[in-house]
Amino acid sequence: MNRLILVNKDNILTKTYIPRDLIIDPKSGKELNKDTHKAFTNMNKAMDNQGLSKLVLVSAYRPYDYQEKVFTRKVNGLMKEGLSKTDAIDKAKTIVALPGTSEHQTGLAIDITNQDLNKQKDPLIEEFENTIHAKWLRDNAHKYGFILRYPKGKTNITHISYEPWHYRYVGIYHANEIKKRGMCLEEYISHIDKKQ
Ligand SMILES: [Zn+2]
Repeated sequence: MNRLILVNKDNILTKTYIPRDLIIDPKSGKELNKDTHKAFTNMNKAMDNQGLSKLVLVSAYRPYDYQEKVFTRKVNGLMKEGLSKTDAIDKAKTIVALPGTSEHQTGLAIDITNQDLNKQKDPLIEEFENTIHAKWLRDNAHKYGFILRYPKGKTNITHISYEPWHYRYVGIYHANEIKKRGMCLEEYISHIDKKQ
């Protein structure tokens, strides 16, 4: 498993891309990469030990078929509202991810929240950034191999709005480097490519 795999609108995964090393998190029933799960579990334990309640895993591995279903549902809905197929597809692209462009397909991405916010219908909201859990993650997640994948000041590079709940496993070495340099994954990968 390439932990630095880059998935975005210019680096699209195919329908046949199905990661090996997926396991099911017993607590949430979500499927994710084995190493990512181990790192998440360790991170959660550390939070628990420091007196913070554990995080909730809201979303992890998302297969291509699922992304396709979500996208098609959105297109059909917009067509029912009167848009032509081309217009519906264009509009859907601005609302949901085009199939293959979600790094959740790698099993290395997790959407997390705290137990309070998880009581809400949609727990993945920007408000999460003000919680003690989000602050802890910003200061410590790299020690467990995670990076904040879509940071606030990098949306012009990632093309994804700020998501304080979305973390990506890259392993401890790369997470430390990325944190130290204040880069997003796109910047870090081109930085590494230039070095080689
Ligand atoms: Zn996510």
